[in-house]
Amino acid sequence: MRRALISVSDKTGIVEFAKKLTELGVEIISTGGTAKKLIENGVKVIGISDVTGFPECLDGRVKTLHPNIHAGLLAIRDNEEHMKQLKELNVTPIDLVVVNLYPFKQTILKEGVTREEAIENIDIGGPTMLRSAAKNYQDVAVVVDPEDYDKVLNEISEKGDVSYETKFNLCCKVFEHTSHYDTLIANYMRKERNATDYPETISMTFEKVQDMRYGENPHQSAAFYKEVGNTKGCITNAKQLHGKALSFNNINDTNGALELLKEFEEPTVVACKHANPCGVGSDTNIYDAYVKAYKTDPVSIYGGIIVANREIDKKTAEEINKIFVEIVVAPSYSDEAVEVLTKKKNIRVLVLEDILQKQPKTAYDLKKVGGGLLIQTIDSELLPEGLKVVTKAQPTKEQIEDLKFAWKVVKFAKSNGIAIGKDKRSLGVGPGQVNRIWACKQAISHAVEHLGEDVLKGASLASDAYFPFPDCVEEAAKAGISCIIQPGGSIRDHLSIEACDKYGIAMVFTGMRHFRH
Ligand code: 5GP
Repeated sequence: MRRALISVSDKTGIVEFAKKLTELGVEIISTGGTAKKLIENGVKVIGISDVTGFPECLDGRVKTLHPNIHAGLLAIRDNEEHMKQLKELNVTPIDLVVVNLYPFKQTILKEGVTREEAIENIDIGGPTMLRSAAKNYQDVAVVVDPEDYDKVLNEISEKGDVSYETKFNLCCKVFEHTSHYDTLIANYMRKERNATDYPETISMTFEKVQDMRYGENPHQSAAFYKEVGNTKGCITNAKQLHGKALSFNNINDTNGALELLKEFEEPTVVACKHANPCGVGSDTNIYDAYVKAYKTDPVSIYGGIIVANREIDKKTAEEINKIFVEIVVAPSYSDEAVEVLTKKKNIRVLVLEDILQKQPKTAYDLKKVGGGLLIQTIDSELLPEGLKVVTKAQPTKEQIEDLKFAWKVVKFAKSNGIAIGKDKRSLGVGPGQVNRIWACKQAISHAVEHLGEDVLKGASLASDAYFPFPDCVEEAAKAGISCIIQPGGSIRDHLSIEACDKYGIAMVFTGMRHFRH
């Protein structure tokens, strides 16, 4: 280990690192700003121009892009011909490269950044050196992350060089880093041209939040990543105030609850289990909203997720504490509410300040299938313009409100899904059935079991997709339901309409379905 090249934008820890390298007998080449900082701090450096014989120019666009650098990085030390050529060309090998790149990500995440500014922050020479060094990893150690400075120093001071294994690990890190960097650039450019098409190949920019203890089940390994530039209002933006670390299922289930919550503007509480809603309530205040959500299904909420779109006060916290819930998420908590909730060891309490913020309509929804990936835009629509009444009976204003409420709930239930609602609360949800009539029967029987038969008189029923047969209408009529909302579009729609007319039920078509598989 004789010669190092240091050229860094993030100068954290660089002076200490360079000083120790010098003490270990390594000579240092460096570029403009980095060299200046090192010299100011008493580190001896060779200027890059002394190695290239060419000035740094074009506002720093060209500094290290020179064969004297790249031949020094790419020559294979065991290859006699390579080494002979280096001698003839008067090029000295470089054994260590320390580079971190222009802060492209930080630049594009700034409010109001211009395209020019973003482009100026695309590093050219840095990634080129990283790639040269990483390609030749058996001879060149390449450090892209200040976190690795200590490990590299320790190995050089102990063995005079960086071990082969460490060099290979560093090389892998480099290719991860440069590919992520290039993906950030590519995605930024896509945004700049407002692209809505799907490119021939696709790379995504996600960054690790944490390793998870395990995945959906204890024998599966897992990690959690956040999407660069799209975390507003999402679980990735939540801060945990109390409780054990979130599990894989916790994150997935909370995500489902949050998506549904965003459909509501008034104070609302959503209770979810396994990413399906089991109780939803809206009211003029969060306490009453919670009580409504709880009463829909006091059994399933046990061990579930509760998300609220207003501050949680002491009274609501005390009510929540009466049962065991895994997670509570709210935009804020009163001090007393925190005191109440944190008395329990096993509850996870999260703050999500921007809980009302929706994802942009262009955000992607990804589904991994064996051997492939399905990509679609998120289901950001709720109802198209206007509802089409298709029955003799017309829904009242109140019923339309109930229908819309049930429609929001069913949108976030797994298909086939049926939800029943009345007076700004869910009464029963039947999610994830392999046929619609089962979902319908389940929603009805849940409501009857927890709230009694009478609760369904005059209630509204929502179906996430059309009725293929009139059996759901028959079932709804028996239960006393007075209006139905569904997309329509079946070749047998007329059978469901006739059944509604027979029982005096009002039915509206939305013209939009909300499958969620
Ligand atoms: P310095 O602060 O030392 O002047 O610049 C350090 C930065 O310049 C590092 O982020 C490094 O990746 C980048 N860099 C090094 N060589 C070149 C080059 O030839 N062209 C460009 N555009 N960037 C370079």
